[in-house]
Amino acid sequence: MSWQDKLRNVEPYQAGEQPKIQNLIKLNTNENPYAPGEKVKQAILNFNADVLPLYPNPDADELKHSLALYHGLQDNQVFLGNGSDEVLALTFLTCFNGKAPVLFPDISYSFYPVYCELYGMNYQMIPLNEQFEIVKEDYYQENSGIIFPNPNAPTGLLVTTDFIEDILKHNSESIVVIDEAYIDFGGESAMKLLNQYPNLLITQTFSKFRSLAGIRLGVALGNQEIISKLYDVKNSFNSYPIDSLAQVIGKASIEDSVYIRENAQKIIETREYTKKELKALGFVMPDSYANFIFVSHPNYDAKELFGLLRERGILVRYFDKPRINQYLRITIGTQAQMETFIQVMKDIL
Ligand SMILES: *Cc1c(COP(=O)(O)O)cnc(C)c1O
Repeated sequence: MSWQDKLRNVEPYQAGEQPKIQNLIKLNTNENPYAPGEKVKQAILNFNADVLPLYPNPDADELKHSLALYHGLQDNQVFLGNGSDEVLALTFLTCFNGKAPVLFPDISYSFYPVYCELYGMNYQMIPLNEQFEIVKEDYYQENSGIIFPNPNAPTGLLVTTDFIEDILKHNSESIVVIDEAYIDFGGESAMKLLNQYPNLLITQTFSKFRSLAGIRLGVALGNQEIISKLYDVKNSFNSYPIDSLAQVIGKASIEDSVYIRENAQKIIETREYTKKELKALGFVMPDSYANFIFVSHPNYDAKELFGLLRERGILVRYFDKPRINQYLRITIGTQAQMETFIQVMKDIL
């Protein structure tokens, strides 16, 4: 056996492009177009570099406490990680240990199958229906865990907390993870179900709603038993995933929440404007409740539109995958950016 045979071969997740080109309107990775708040800026200016020789608090206790207060939970119901991608990676490792498949939709966050492949887990991708909706009855079968985003990505479609409750009721023997990366753009969090359903775990992120993708902070909220197992697994892998500066910034961001909610409201209004304008141009789309929309035009090839937009300085996301290769996922930018986008799209058509 050669050393090459001992290497792990995996097909990695393909993150959206972070281009070097200036002046591009970047609508491809669902970042928030608004700056983080004043408290965050102040926290960075006031940060004392003299603390950097020391390791950070391993469990980000102060940030955890602020977040627990913000959500009305106990500290021991909150887990923090280096971006929700890390939280999800640790969640799969901690929560989905069985022989039956882990279940998630075929059109969903494309990191889920990557984690399963990395860990050698059995999984089943369950097709969304023709309207791109999750069919809850499909999840009433033996499994080692269930995960889906709400709103789903890249469709933007939202399910109700009653819908999630039905899935929980039929799956009391496994952990159901709801990835709420986009919940603050118009959805209702499943958090109110936490007390009743100990097998519910919710993940959230500071990257989208809180305009902090660059600082890498992700969250899991759930029953203290699951949370404590997540810490055990985290501490078997990396004791210090969140650096000292990120801990301070995260805490300041919680204090910026009023400003952040105002930005989310602006994004929602711009999203509705963009939907309306694109529909008038003949686009069709599922009704997104996220900070992106997922659109298709019956008369134009999506990949071609992607290229034409790029030539004109607008970057959106195109997935060359079955079922969705005639769609573009467009992040909602500022109102001014989206007005430019609509103008450019009119010119192209
Ligand atoms: C963006 C996104 C994440 C990851 O967020 P980070 O905290 O930046 O790692 C997780 N899940 C979904 C569905 C996302 O779209």
